[in-house]
Amino acid sequence: MAAGAGGLTMETILIATSNAGKVREMEKAFEGLPVRLVPLSRLHEVLPDAPEVGEPVEDGATFLENARIKARYYREKTGLSALADDSGLAVDALDGAPGVYSARYAGVHGDDTANNAKLVSELAARGEENAAASYRCALVLTLADGRELTAEGVCRGFIRPMPRGTGGFGYDPYFYLPRGKAMAELTLAEKHAVSHRGAALREMKELLAGIL
Ligand code: IMP
Repeated sequence: MAAGAGGLTMETILIATSNAGKVREMEKAFEGLPVRLVPLSRLHEVLPDAPEVGEPVEDGATFLENARIKARYYREKTGLSALADDSGLAVDALDGAPGVYSARYAGVHGDDTANNAKLVSELAARGEENAAASYRCALVLTLADGRELTAEGVCRGFIRPMPRGTGGFGYDPYFYLPRGKAMAELTLAEKHAVSHRGAALREMKELLAGIL
């Protein structure tokens, strides 16, 4: 492939997220591909002189729009290929909320405890103890040469008020799969096999393998 910024090849892909849970799942999914994945937190290892890159305003109306905003922003700031994930939870009884606001549902970005507490109390107020919901994930990979790959995945399940498990992140302890286990009770490999991000990453892996 063509050389990217600073002589780096396009096989170097910046994982454009500071969410450690997403990074773990992406690294697992791309095992075996001839790419070097670099999380945002380790950007200085490949670009030692990179200035502070900051972060974009995620004002898209959909997960796909937000993923595109993030991938293009970090590609633009670093010259590296950038892979962004935008994802979240959509609860049927809440008209699709928290949706694109999943990370900051209770007001503070990334406060999983507060977000889960708000979710449980909103559903309790409506008498919903087994609320149909879906996890959604959009991935955008903006390559150093400007080409773009996109993939999406959905996982249906139910939100119940009793948390179970210690794996995963975010809403996983409250998100139950139709077969009965909470997402947080699954191993990384098990989550990958059934989750929204797993589905999107499998599709992205195939697209990427096709152009490497
Ligand atoms: P983003 O970083 O703006 O895409 O926000 C993603 C948010 O959606 C996370 O902070 C979680 O609250 C939620 N979310 C996305 N994917 C998952 C998942 O796999 N498990 C649990 N929560 C998730």
